[in-house]
Amino acid sequence: MSYDNNNIFAKILRGELPCIKVYEDDHTMAFMDIMPQCDGHTLVIPKEPAETLMDLSDEGAAAVIKTTKKIAAAVDKAMQGPGVVLFQLNGAGAGQTVPHLHFHVIPGSLAMLRQP
Ligand code: 5GP
Repeated sequence: MSYDNNNIFAKILRGELPCIKVYEDDHTMAFMDIMPQCDGHTLVIPKEPAETLMDLSDEGAAAVIKTTKKIAAAVDKAMQGPGVVLFQLNGAGAGQTVPHLHFHVIPGSLAMLRQP
């Protein structure tokens, strides 16, 4: 597995770059997206160095899903619908721009995201 220790989210994890942190535990962190699709757009990342979901350990996957569930519930409550969209891209070919695994938690609907 290749992993670039100098990617932006690795720097955020090391405290070398600022972020608006909304949650942290031993295995994960959540913070606001710097260029949000809409208000409330939050990113959830594992602390384990993994570029894609396929690179992540089963323990890391369990931890990141647990935190994503927590953040999705918080976003849903704070933004009050119509729903919460989760997405997660694996590899540059899929459109992933930051090579550290992250889940997008976005209040709204797929139709809203597809609007030009
Ligand atoms: P991707 O396209 O890889 O799925 O999503 C990367 C996300 O990271 C984008 O939504 C982008 O706005 C966000 N992002 C890129 N650089 C930074 C940064 O320095 N800080 C934060 N908080 N988000 C970032």
